[in-house]
Amino acid sequence: MSSVLSLARPDILELQPYQHAAWDPSLERMHANEMPWRALGDNTGAGLNRYPEPQPRALVERMARLYGVPANRVLVGRGSDEAIDLLVRAFCRAGVDAVVTCPPTFGFYKVAARIQGATVSEVPLRDGEFQLDTPRVVDAGRRAKIVFLCSPNNPTGNLLDESDLVETCQALSGRALVCVDEAYLEFSGRSSLATRLDELPNLVILRTLSKAYALAGARCGTLIASEEIVGLLKRIIPPYAIPSSTVEEVLQLTEAPQRAISAERVRTILSERERMRTRLAAMPAVERVFRSDGNFLLVRCRDARRFLEAGKSAGLLVRDFSSAPRLAGCLRISVGTPEQNERLLAAVERT
Ligand code: PMP
Repeated sequence: MSSVLSLARPDILELQPYQHAAWDPSLERMHANEMPWRALGDNTGAGLNRYPEPQPRALVERMARLYGVPANRVLVGRGSDEAIDLLVRAFCRAGVDAVVTCPPTFGFYKVAARIQGATVSEVPLRDGEFQLDTPRVVDAGRRAKIVFLCSPNNPTGNLLDESDLVETCQALSGRALVCVDEAYLEFSGRSSLATRLDELPNLVILRTLSKAYALAGARCGTLIASEEIVGLLKRIIPPYAIPSSTVEEVLQLTEAPQRAISAERVRTILSERERMRTRLAAMPAVERVFRSDGNFLLVRCRDARRFLEAGKSAGLLVRDFSSAPRLAGCLRISVGTPEQNERLLAAVERT
């Protein structure tokens, strides 16, 4: 067994996975207890009366091409949220194993671990620039199964230094997985760490269609890892996890014309991010605008409640992080359309 698989829960390694109804489109289906007719008005390609293909091959291949990795290193799930959940379930024994998170960061790592009964060991990002405290992360990682790192980080917005990510992976090789969540990578100009998978067998990458590709409602996330890890997670993903309507929509909406529009819109978001950063930084209501490599800005306000209310009075909701540890006075603003951004800026300037 590879050293990375030896980190998995022994009962999961031995689990007899659920047996899906065989997938053989050359034969007519009388083996899955489905109705033979479509529901009235069902105009989907495959027909919603039929169970979808588990890990749909066309979708897996599309995501592999989109992210520039081999298809045998790809697992697709209902958002990267599902991939986080699967990782914790496969590697953490309830009441025994731990994960490491580096707050302030995306909240679901901790929640998924808690649901599984795993311990959460928190190693805060360094104050000021929100970079990794690598020696402490490595130290905590030696007593954990998974280290969750987010780059660009939500909600702070900054990329983590790549050398710290690589050093963490290397130091924990054979000891723990290092999961680098690249949900916002398209807004950063940085290339994916997935190119380093050959040399870093304990590395797991998360990508999503929910951000730059404007498909949050489709719920489609991709986990990229060694073939062994992908194979293990396929054993525990719920049966027929990806709805066939999602498969059809995603295949249709990630073709070349949509990809070109996504790239153009990402450029618009980046110029709007910069415009907002400059305007916000000049406002008396704002104490600090943090560096962002994502499609949002973290802002420390002199009076977060007043800022929030100003947004609401203009019909706009921003996210309140002011009661989160080390984020006193902070709000997270997702960059919107130029019109929405202007409306928000004008409302705050008026207060
Ligand atoms: N990772 C990060 C860092 C996120 O911010 C989010 C969603 N806000 C997710 C993962 C989950 O994304 P998905 O829609 O793919 O489940």
